[in-house]
Amino acid sequence: MSVVQVDISGWKSIPCECGKKARQAAIKYKGYEVRGWKCSCGNDYIHPEDSLKVSKLEKSKGVEVKVGLLGDSVIIRIPKELSEIYGIRKGSTLKLVPEGLSRIEIRKK
Ligand SMILES: [Zn+2]
Repeated sequence: MSVVQVDISGWKSIPCECGKKARQAAIKYKGYEVRGWKCSCGNDYIHPEDSLKVSKLEKSKGVEVKVGLLGDSVIIRIPKELSEIYGIRKGSTLKLVPEGLSRIEIRKK
């Protein structure tokens, strides 16, 4: 017997319990936009990986990081737990979006 890991991320649709097909869509779950599938009957199915990520995010109520200096730029480090959840790696491009004078949103491109 062998165990095969299946990547369901690319599945365009999955069977819904109503008998129809749920189509791949972005779903709102606990305030987060996650990957999943929506059926016309109203059922939503959440990608299990994203469900796990949301659980981890719910446990952390924000992380404090120290600001450093690199040449003329100030730098912040993104803790490993967060970089793993968001899939941020060396070479990733992020976008900083001003949200006010004391708030900056970091978007993954
Ligand atoms: Zn359905």
